[in-house]
This record gives sequence, structure tokens and C-alpha cells, in this order.
Amino acid sequence: MTASTLPILNIAPAQVIRGSGVLLESAALFERLGKRPLLVGGETSLAAALPFLSAPLQELNTATATYQKDCSEQTLTVLNQAVEAHKADCIIGIGGGKALDAAKLLAYQNQLPIATVPTSAATCAGWTALSNVYSEEGAFLYDVGLATCPNMLVLDYDLVATAPQRTLVAGIGDAIAKWYEASISSGHSPHTMVIGAVQQARVLRDILFQKSDSALKNPGSDDWKEVIDASVLMAGVIGGMGGAQCRTVAAHAVHNGLTHVAAHGTLHGEKVAYGILVQLRLEEMGPGKTALAATARQQLVKFYERLGLPTSLSDMRMDQLSVSQLRQAATIACREGSDIHHLPFSVQPEQVMAAMVSTTLATAGASTASKGTDSPAASVARTQPLPTRQSAQARNLGI
Ligand SMILES: [Zn+2]
Repeated sequence: MTASTLPILNIAPAQVIRGSGVLLESAALFERLGKRPLLVGGETSLAAALPFLSAPLQELNTATATYQKDCSEQTLTVLNQAVEAHKADCIIGIGGGKALDAAKLLAYQNQLPIATVPTSAATCAGWTALSNVYSEEGAFLYDVGLATCPNMLVLDYDLVATAPQRTLVAGIGDAIAKWYEASISSGHSPHTMVIGAVQQARVLRDILFQKSDSALKNPGSDDWKEVIDASVLMAGVIGGMGGAQCRTVAAHAVHNGLTHVAAHGTLHGEKVAYGILVQLRLEEMGPGKTALAATARQQLVKFYERLGLPTSLSDMRMDQLSVSQLRQAATIACREGSDIHHLPFSVQPEQVMAAMVSTTLATAGASTASKGTDSPAASVARTQPLPTRQSAQARNLGI
């Protein structure tokens, strides 16, 4: 018998502490991690969070380090100097995805315990054993797998309630991607843990379909809290339980490509949500010509329109991107090692470009759809629902 070692699973933080007012009521919350925490966050997030942190930090010797722009190598250099200067013995990451990614990577590099305190529900970064590293200009460069999930995640709904609603909408977009990415990459896996992760992703999608409208209409309500749990916590469980295969496919690859041509102005989850539609278009155009993918896309477009998630490049104000910029984004999405290659068929940049400009294309059978079974590219040129500017991009692409 030969030895075979499977990848280590980092499923969850050791402790998840959540509720309304947990920060204010938990005087000794962070003491089990250390006595000299370094607080890492963006300026806005720290300003929002500090009033909540006075009680849990009052007995500790704290210092604060703000991250600059993105979780970049330069940011990490500055943060490492702050760890050294303060002789920090633990890290408390405070903020959204980029702040938490920077804090987690900093803790990993220094082998220090870490608590994450999300100030919004925009991503599941507070949960996962993964940090994304960006350039100073905001372009995605690579991700780093961390040794463990954070030691502690503190989710205080009162703090998350201070974030703009747009962040929760983006979090829903990022979380719902779990199903569309995990099911296409791992839906046929025979492995128990992956099957479990894929099924949880389906349940997560259904929870978001059922409760997102109500959550956004009623901030602070029970549904709002459940949707926050879905976006911040359950999305993280799926990544942890399924491992690398279950994490990302084309939706995130398209996001990564877009960060190289339009880094700022949209949130991670907004670009990922749009990326799901691109992925579904690829599935529609792929060798299987999946009708299910077309139906799923129509369902998502309606869902996005209600929530305010982008359905097209123009919704993200990227309708000004030139053909060469679109090609650059598509080429990066398709580069060697990209998660897009977890699709069960090969994909070229030209196909990604065609998918990018046809995310709102009506399907045969939908009320506004044209009849016939022409190729998708011909349909792009013929049907009406594409916004004018997007149609111009499609025309420039010759489709
Ligand atoms: Zn994501």
C-alpha cells in the first residue's frame, strides 16, 4: 500500500463569536490571544470600529496600523515594521476583505494569533485561510494559502450595521458565486467532503434567494442577520470544507482580469456577481450548450436587478473599456493556472470576451428572446436587451 496524503483542510476559525453588542459586552474578548495586539485596518473601518472596541481593548497594550490602498506587498512591508515596532504578540484585523486579507497574511508571516472583526458583510475574508495580494494599482496578483483559519472571528451585527448597504449587496454576490463555481468544478466529485461543500453551496444559494430582498428592505431584522451569516460565515465554511477545488472558477477569474483594467470603483462581490453571468454564458456557449445555464442566468439577472448587483459592464461603468482592454482582462482570466480552467471545457480569451459583452442576452423561450437556434454570437448581434454601449463593445468585437 502506498501512502497518500490529502491536502490539509482549514475549515473554520477556532472560535466564532457573534451577536449584537458582543464587542461592547466582551471585556476580556481578545486577552486569550495576547497582551499587545496590533490593530490592522483601513482608516474608515478603524474609525467606525474603534467606539466598539474600547471595552475589549481596555486592559491591553494596543497599537494601530492602517493598511494603504490594497493588500499589497508594500503594505505588508509597512505592517511588518509596525509589528516589530510594537512587539505585537497578536493581530486584530478590522475591516472589509482587503484589510482582513492584509491582517491575516501579516499574522501568518509573523506566526502570531489573529482575530478578525469584519466591519461589513462584503466578503467571507474574516473566515478563510486565504489572502489575496494585489498590486499598488489594485490589480489582482496572486493568493496565498494560510496555515490555518483565524483563531477568532468576531461578528458584531451592530458594527456591520454601520457599513453602507452596498457592501451587503456585494457580499451576497460573492457568496452566491459559491454554488455556480463549486457545482461546475466539483459537482461530480465522489469525495464526501466536497459533496458536502457543494450541497452547502446550494443551500446557501437558496437562503440568499429567499431572504436577500427582505434583508435589504429591513436592515437589522432577523432576515438581515441571516443573510449576513450566509455571506460572512457560511460562504467561508464552503471554501474551507471543499478545499481549493471548491473555491473559485470563472466568476473569480473574470473578477481578477477586470482588476487589471478597472481596479477601483466597484466592489469585489460586484465584479464576482457579474463574473457568474460571464461564466454561465461560457457554459451556454460551451460544448454542452447548457440550457440550464441559460435559465440560471435569466434567474440571476432578475435577482441582481432587484438587489442592485451589476448585470453588465455598463452597470459597473466599464462600458468605456476598449476592445484591447477587454482582451487584456480576458487574457488574464485565461492565463495559465487561472481558476477559469476548472471549467470542464477549455476556454480561450475570445470566448471570454464574447461572454463578457453578452451577459444580459435574452434566451430562447424568455419573453424578449428571439426565436431560432443560431450560434450565441449571432444572437448577440441580433437581440435587443444589451444596453446600447455594451452593444457597441459587442459590435467592436465583431459579434
Ligand atoms: Zn470572492
